[in-house]
Amino acid sequence: MPYCKECGIQLIGRTDKKFCSDFCRIHYHNTLNRQSNEIIKIINKKLKKNALILDKLISHDITTVKIDLLRSEGFDFVFFTHEHTVPAGEKYKCCYNYGYHHIDHDDILLICLGEAEYPITLLKPL
Ligand SMILES: [Zn+2]
Repeated sequence: MPYCKECGIQLIGRTDKKFCSDFCRIHYHNTLNRQSNEIIKIINKKLKKNALILDKLISHDITTVKIDLLRSEGFDFVFFTHEHTVPAGEKYKCCYNYGYHHIDHDDILLICLGEAEYPITLLKPL
């Protein structure tokens, strides 16, 4: 016998029913969406923090840093938005329009990408 995915009561009627009522169906999906939105908020916060750290360094003309310095600032290497390959061929991991590239085991090269790399036509909302 099937049971309501929200409240757990036994379902009566059609065998493909998943919820006992509209209330349970809506509550179930709202809870899922809320949890998903919460995760997105947390990840966005980490991405923004990473971008702010890179922005701070680059705006002080610091373009080569030690990995340990980034870590001590709170940079989290797990989170990046995408990868960008520059014409010279190096692949940068990016947090929005800020990128970093491992030069060697300890050193990282930073770049700020602008409209040349991301023409506004590419950035149009979906
Ligand atoms: Zn229910």
